[in-house]
Amino acid sequence: MFRRIDAHSHINFNAYKDDAEQVIARAFEEGTAMLAVGSQYSTSVRAVEYAEKHEGIWAVVGLHPSHLFEQHIDEEEISYTSVHETFDAAAYRALVKRSPKVVAIGECGLDYYRLPEHVPHEEVRARQKEAFRAQLDLAHEVDLPIMIHCRDAHDDLATILEEYFAAGKKIRGNIHCFTGTWPEAERYLQLGFYISFTGVITYKPKAADIAAAVETLQDVVKKVPLEKMLIETDAPYLAPVPMRGKRNEPAYVKYVGEMVAKLREISVEEVEKQTLLNTQTLFRL
Ligand SMILES: [Zn+2]
Ligand SMILES: [Zn+2]
Repeated sequence: MFRRIDAHSHINFNAYKDDAEQVIARAFEEGTAMLAVGSQYSTSVRAVEYAEKHEGIWAVVGLHPSHLFEQHIDEEEISYTSVHETFDAAAYRALVKRSPKVVAIGECGLDYYRLPEHVPHEEVRARQKEAFRAQLDLAHEVDLPIMIHCRDAHDDLATILEEYFAAGKKIRGNIHCFTGTWPEAERYLQLGFYISFTGVITYKPKAADIAAAVETLQDVVKKVPLEKMLIETDAPYLAPVPMRGKRNEPAYVKYVGEMVAKLREISVEEVEKQTLLNTQTLFRL
């Protein structure tokens, strides 16, 4: 029996190539299940392999916007050079068919924060939108939810989703690692989407936000209905306080749950129970 679930981890990444099984065991020992999320074809395949091997792991397959062009990416403590890939619907469709434990398409979406320097930005944005729409189409076709990555692009992304709904195509999903504003969250909630939070909510609110008395991410955590919230690590990135700066892992999702509980003044058990139920409902686990 699992008591909580990490709705977005990359246990399938090279960061765990030497000790993935130990990291997974540590999570299971504490009652933490997890979704393993692909960011390109190779890591999507590995996500499926882990899901097939372990009862408490489910796979998400898709192409991250940062992998559409070759570029150097600096995450908080892990840097890498991304490999260029074009979204191949047939290849990802085959992955979905390969295992009943593939529960969503993603992570996919728009990322205007990290744009490659050698390509005109308009072209990059157009290609990102095209790949995102292709993944929405696949998710719709195979009747799976979509797991969305969005950075500095909420208006464009919400507009695409709203157009999709307006065209009569309904889709369900979540906005992973949400770091936007309340009005941005509201647009997604109106479409029935879930909002998921990472260890970023445990970081000190930006001084500028406090000084200007504007809303911080922690205020958004208080406003999102608990029935629409997921918790996740995005491991190996974004380790929550008190592990900040270290390699993140699914077991640390408990610190995200603790922060949600603290901010909303409810028990950790309630947060874990409800977010587990939400994750099971959305992804039909
Ligand atoms: Zn992401
Ligand atoms: Zn991720």
